[in-house]
Amino acid sequence: MDRPAVIHKTASEWRVAPHWNAYEAQRASFSWDAVRRQLEGLPGGALNIAHEAVDRHARGARRHHPAFVFLGEQWRRDVLTYAELARLTNRFASALTALGIRRGDTLFVLSGRIPELYIAVLGGLKAGVVVSPLFSAFGPEPVATRLTLGAGRVLVTTESLYRRKVEGLRSRLPQLEQVLLVGENGAETSVSGTLDFGRFLASASDVFDTVPTRPEDPSLLHFTSGTTGTPKGAQHVHEAALMHWMTGKYALDLHPADIYWCTADPGWVTGTSYGIIAPLLHGVTSVIDEAEFDAERWYRILQEEGVSVWYTAPTAIRMLMKAGLELARARPCPQLRFIASVGEPLNPEAVWWGLDAFGLPVHDNWWQTETGGIMIANAPAFDIKPGSMGRPLPGVEAALVRRQQDGGVSFIKEPGHEGELALKKGWPSMMRGYLGEAARYRNCFSGEWYLTGDLAKRDEDGYYWFVGRSDDVIKSAGHLIGPFEVESALMEHPAVAEAGVIGKPHETLGELVKAFVSLRHGFEASEALRRDILGHARKRLGAAVAPKELDFLDSLPKTRSGKIMRRLLKARELGLPEGDTSALEQT
Ligand code: ATP
Ligand code: MG
Repeated sequence: MDRPAVIHKTASEWRVAPHWNAYEAQRASFSWDAVRRQLEGLPGGALNIAHEAVDRHARGARRHHPAFVFLGEQWRRDVLTYAELARLTNRFASALTALGIRRGDTLFVLSGRIPELYIAVLGGLKAGVVVSPLFSAFGPEPVATRLTLGAGRVLVTTESLYRRKVEGLRSRLPQLEQVLLVGENGAETSVSGTLDFGRFLASASDVFDTVPTRPEDPSLLHFTSGTTGTPKGAQHVHEAALMHWMTGKYALDLHPADIYWCTADPGWVTGTSYGIIAPLLHGVTSVIDEAEFDAERWYRILQEEGVSVWYTAPTAIRMLMKAGLELARARPCPQLRFIASVGEPLNPEAVWWGLDAFGLPVHDNWWQTETGGIMIANAPAFDIKPGSMGRPLPGVEAALVRRQQDGGVSFIKEPGHEGELALKKGWPSMMRGYLGEAARYRNCFSGEWYLTGDLAKRDEDGYYWFVGRSDDVIKSAGHLIGPFEVESALMEHPAVAEAGVIGKPHETLGELVKAFVSLRHGFEASEALRRDILGHARKRLGAAVAPKELDFLDSLPKTRSGKIMRRLLKARELGLPEGDTSALEQT
């Protein structure tokens, strides 16, 4: 179906006036110092994320406002106000300190999305320790590798996760001194070599003076998704709070009355930066769902919780699309006013799906574990060009560059040309290092610019268009082909639910474009369908760019954070070793 290239926004559609409504003017007048003044800070120029996120509100007018609404797998509903969250995080911080855990030590958290996870992350930050939340579905090896790399001194986990993933490897983790276990369904635990989380908290003081961390002190350690290789540990600092506040305001458009739902797990940077910190900095209520994806459940949550701002990911949207529009329409969500997505390229079809399902387009935005916060975004007040990730936020300077032999870069000024996306240093949540990989970190920079490894184009209106990761770009018969463009064309075919495209070595072409697709409900793989999809792609893209080969898969290999792993499609196609699969989703 042909759709217009631009979705126009008009002020008459706004249910609340967006914070960012004059693109250039607000960028021009923006300053990080002004953001710093919005936060409270601690005496002597100290800054602590948890103080800004929790205690600032717990001592103010929003103290009885819900900070979190936790939904259990069986629909148990627990609400924590800002005041309650302050008390519980104080207890956790007091208890950690009593155990001899000190500022700068590392705390790992390995659990599903239960209240204790959030208390441990925020309480750990209050105590000045470095916090690293891990995805609970990791197997024992990836957990042990990360604990070792990060020299974790304390681990908070559940009894069952401990037994399945840590106990057997504990002897390999000599630096891990304390393990705190959350019992199943509130039961006390008594496992040798561990402490019970509940008892530990109950005995601790609920008064705690937040450690006056410096803005440059380490705060969070996040591992990248592992889409292109072994996950890297990106080190972040407390000053990142400025970025989370800024993006919560301008990219997510948070207002005090919002009910906000970020569907990402805190084991990935999105689930911490935007599933914990940014909404709390703005004093809003966040919904946290413990359960895994389920289309009906998700629509029910959006409706029953009255979610107004929803931050999710392309993979989830593709699954909702796969489940059909009827499900969405059965649950009208009149409160919902803004939908945003991150993590992978958002195909235009997915932007349009938002309009069909909710009367609201999906707003793509771009960032990385390394950037710590959203950098490029579509925001509520501005027109959307489906397929584009939007424009740089206030305080963010982006450019497209080509790397040169001598380590320098040349800048691409003309619109429409492809280059590597680069960001000028100086935004507060930039990673301060890759754990144990100093040379790799240095190689990410050229002078004042951080080089992202992603290729993009910019149009004459300043919108950025994702082309592909520099590793994934296909060179075929002299053309440079971005997989995203090809995948988006494939997604337009009514039978296609998801698509992944790779370059396969070929004698005359250099590389041949090969596609892998999974099908929507109601479609069966067949030779006729293969020809039809390839024909559709050829019509849309031209013979030089369209895939020459296409295989059907039940589903595409993805990281636990839901990203299509093209490197795995390629390795499997070529019979090569699969490399690091610690972050691979097991289906
Ligand atoms: P690894 O670095 O371990 O290979 P990863 O790059 O997937 O994994 P993340 O930091 O979680 O780890 O993801 C950031 C990357 O995700 C970006 O560099 C980009 O390639 C992709 N990405 C994120 N958002 C978008 C978006 N809106 N459009 C296109 N790509 C995106
Ligand atoms: Mg990356």
